[in-house]
Amino acid sequence: MTKLKIAIQKSGRLNDDSVQLLKDCGIDLKNGVNKLKTESDNFPMEIYFLRDDDIPQYVEDAVADIGIVGENVVYEKNKNVEVIEHLGFGKCRLSIAVTRTENYDSVQYLNNKKIATTYPVIVQKFLDENKINAEIHEISGSVEIAPGIGLADAIVDLVSSGSTLFMNGLKEVETVLRSEAVLINNGNLSTEKKQILDKFLFRIRAVKKAKNNKYILLNAPNNKVAEIISLLPGMKSPTVLPLAEPGWSSVHSVLNENEFWDIIEKLKDAGAQGILVIPIEKMIL
Ligand code: ATP
Ligand code: MG
Repeated sequence: MTKLKIAIQKSGRLNDDSVQLLKDCGIDLKNGVNKLKTESDNFPMEIYFLRDDDIPQYVEDAVADIGIVGENVVYEKNKNVEVIEHLGFGKCRLSIAVTRTENYDSVQYLNNKKIATTYPVIVQKFLDENKINAEIHEISGSVEIAPGIGLADAIVDLVSSGSTLFMNGLKEVETVLRSEAVLINNGNLSTEKKQILDKFLFRIRAVKKAKNNKYILLNAPNNKVAEIISLLPGMKSPTVLPLAEPGWSSVHSVLNENEFWDIIEKLKDAGAQGILVIPIEKMIL
């Protein structure tokens, strides 16, 4: 039987969320002792656990059909692969940082400076686009110590909270790239594999939608229901059910995370009571 081969990070920041995504998609992994490779017993998929740096190459070479990796790695490795879905986790930015006491006013600051990074390809592209002439020092880790030991004037590194930069006396001055985990694909999949990929993508999208939405239930006096309904976007239209207590109804709907707090306030003001908010597991529209 044909199986879709997916490459995910073996250990590190993307590993947990990648495994969780498969679980949320109802894809159970066999807990084999073989830590390089496993398979699912309820979905035609084989899972390879690899260093994230190697994933684009494996997908280009069709050793894996698809992979989960940060956009930063996709752009740095510049392999022949397609980004097919943004996955909403592993969010970070690739930023320029300099010593805190430096006066950085614009990218022009970087002219004739030394920049330490593990992302030479992305940085060179950024410098070219901004017509900056600077020297790139490629190093393989602990980039944040480079200015302190006199190796470079600036660094380009991944940042999420900025605490590592702060601890090393650096300040973030420019964002080169915003990144999150993405699903990449070898463009030459067989028809059977494409069909499995479509099933997988359908599930990923249902899981992503559900994560961004909440199910909401509330009670309201009947004379307030029309106003409350006007506040609720709903998937089609809200469900309204009579309560045992005469003159009262229960209203059910779906709310987007982004507009959530705003709408809850308005619902309360309009007379809603006993508001319950429940996570949604899957959402198929
Ligand atoms: P590997 O051993 O697989 O090569 P790694 O050390 O290169 O792992 P991790 O530090 O585990 O990589 O990060 C994997 C990815 O997680 C990064 O490429 C990036 O896309 C994402 N990421 C999210 N937040 C951060 C962050 N604060 N710092 C670094 N990477 C982050
Ligand atoms: Mg790596």
